Amino acid sequence: MSSNQKMFKNQSTQTTKDDINKYDSNLQSKIQDSGCGNCKAHALWDDDWQNILIPCASCAEENNYLWNGEECLGVSGISASEHREQTPEEFVWIIKNLIQPRFKGDEKEFNEYIDRLPTNVRDLFNSY
Ligand SMILES: [Zn+2]
Repeated sequence: MSSNQKMFKNQSTQTTKDDINKYDSNLQSKIQDSGCGNCKAHALWDDDWQNILIPCASCAEENNYLWNGEECLGVSGISASEHREQTPEEFVWIIKNLIQPRFKGDEKEFNEYIDRLPTNVRDLFNSY
């Protein structure tokens, strides 16, 4: 019998308390490994907490607003409480009210920030 078969044979189909504890510690380390406090608190994870489905807004930004090959605006304060990705409208509100003031009138830097936004968000921002 190979060691693989042995391992398989020893696996119980019944979930024991030990399994749950092991699962919880795996889950904990997985979340710790993600390294982002916002994602730990607010990201949308898949059912077994293995992968982030929608990251936090700052991780989405760092990833050029792409996640799993699709445009992604991330989870922000407003949408976090509803466990969903933020909408372009919510994002534009946050840009105007929270992000823009952080640039303290530095128009060049703020314009560079705006240039990096997904086109639909940038267009919406410019239409206000
Ligand atoms: Zn994050």
